[in-house]
Amino acid sequence: MSSTLPQKIHGGTDVFDNLALACIDCNLHKGPNLTGIDPRTKRLAKLFHPRLQRWDEHFEWRGLYLAGKTAIGRTTIRVLNMNSEDHLTLRSS
Ligand SMILES: [Zn+2]
Repeated sequence: MSSTLPQKIHGGTDVFDNLALACIDCNLHKGPNLTGIDPRTKRLAKLFHPRLQRWDEHFEWRGLYLAGKTAIGRTTIRVLNMNSEDHLTLRSS
């Protein structure tokens, strides 16, 4: 496993304003990925950018499940595995 931080792989920096808060599980699944395959269209889509995009444009709650409203939302949920058993357990407690 590389010790290079994901944001540096893509030419970014590790200054505070360039970082995003994420749980360890989501962060490990994201890794250096900036894109993924939209499970609905099977086409390449960008991942959600928490500092440039609005959360509620791309995601909505359906009970304990997070649902993607757009290709970006669906792809981010899939790549980060945001509806994993661990996430569902945390949300139910
Ligand atoms: Zn998470």
